[in-house]
Amino acid sequence: MKRFLVLTALLASTTWATASGTTIIANGTAIDPGTGKVTPNATVVIDGDRIKSIVESSAGISQKGDTVIDAKGKFILPGYIDTHVHFFQSGDIFTRPDAVDLNSVRSYKDEHAWIEKNLPDVFARYLRCGITSVVDVGGPLWNFAVRKQANSTAKAPRVAISGPLISSVSRPQLELNGDAPIVKIDTPEQGREMVRKLAAQNPDYIKIWYIVPGVAPASASTPQPNASASPSAAPGQSDAERAAIFRPVVHAVIDESHRLKLRVAVHATELEAARASVEEGADLLVHSVTDKPVDDAFVKLLKEKGTILTPTLVVFERYGRTFANKLELTPEEKAWGNPEVIASLDPTKIAEDKRPERLKKAMANPEPVLDGIQKTYDVALKNLKTLEDAGITIATGTDAGNIGTIHGPAIFREFQLMKQAGLTPMQILQCTTANAAKTFGGETGAKIGALKPGNYADLVILKSNPLDDIKNASDIESVMKNGVLYSTNTLIPPPAPSR
Ligand SMILES: [Zn+2]
Repeated sequence: MKRFLVLTALLASTTWATASGTTIIANGTAIDPGTGKVTPNATVVIDGDRIKSIVESSAGISQKGDTVIDAKGKFILPGYIDTHVHFFQSGDIFTRPDAVDLNSVRSYKDEHAWIEKNLPDVFARYLRCGITSVVDVGGPLWNFAVRKQANSTAKAPRVAISGPLISSVSRPQLELNGDAPIVKIDTPEQGREMVRKLAAQNPDYIKIWYIVPGVAPASASTPQPNASASPSAAPGQSDAERAAIFRPVVHAVIDESHRLKLRVAVHATELEAARASVEEGADLLVHSVTDKPVDDAFVKLLKEKGTILTPTLVVFERYGRTFANKLELTPEEKAWGNPEVIASLDPTKIAEDKRPERLKKAMANPEPVLDGIQKTYDVALKNLKTLEDAGITIATGTDAGNIGTIHGPAIFREFQLMKQAGLTPMQILQCTTANAAKTFGGETGAKIGALKPGNYADLVILKSNPLDDIKNASDIESVMKNGVLYSTNTLIPPPAPSR
């Protein structure tokens, strides 16, 4: 058998500037979660920015001038995809003044300026974590500029984008220069108009924030509206009746979007709102159902409609744990998250007289907060297992950017929680690659998430086997994006100057 020229030194230290010529990754184990196929002693041939072939054994593939990477003892997978992030949020404690208003410590304008300046850093941290594509499911119109910037940055994931969230409530605290991430829509006609306006930006999704009035806020979940800001619910109304209040707008928005060939992502964490969304034709549910166990009718409905669901388990613990000063970041988050973001997540650093009520309460009495998180997980993890067992398409997503949910490495906490729900390593990886690619959608979505000839060469090379234990999914040696291989130590820039 012809032997390869082994260039391990290159693998350890070099960043390839361009993806030209042929690169051969030899002697590793290729894992394609979408098909479940495991190829030992694989040869993965990369031609420019595409995968050319994946074959077992290595005889006679390389030619003079090829770049050969020895991956003996390594594991090669499609790049990970996080299908629920928000670039307009940093993950720090100042990023959602509608949840805790800390404008007196740091203005929201300054927070956004920092986010804008640090986008290249966020992009690089995603690649460092093996995440080569992400879906941003909601933010201001500024989001479309983020997609453009990512598309012209080599060290950045591929980005799919939705614009402002269409909702029954508004969040004026998050509006800068008239560009609001959350827009209150009162009538079906307003909803259709909004869709037509957004369509001009060529969004990957139209996003609906389906907030059901009168429901006690899930303590651990993303911020829920103040009672005063939501449409009113009459006492004694059933869940379905309360979900019906905003449904005409949901119907109009989905109908208009589909007419314009746009997909619709819906935030609906209550079972009846989720059911209504899927009945109306939602393409993607961006969270787990957290208020009650899913029933057979709901499972059947998802299956019939082919709706995809993103569980976003990690975000359910992070607001509460941050405010209660009980945040337990994973080693991956501590190592690869932005250090300034992480430093902000200590509420004791906020002067006592500047702490909003929600912070004071959680810090003084963390137990109810932690109980609330546990209750959410009791439902959400069980629901994930039910849906996975039923063959529903589950796509991994974190809701990164929300307070305490760290852009990039939050995905490894999500993996832990998916494992806790009872998913196997192969199932978790399938949710993070092939299934997630369906969420990404479009021409790009069809060419990511699988080890397949013709696909983009977006790969993760691991030092240990993720099928033995999903924790090995973070044991990353190098990451390939668009045919360019990056050793992990070249991806995270030195710490930014302090703000
Ligand atoms: Zn979100």
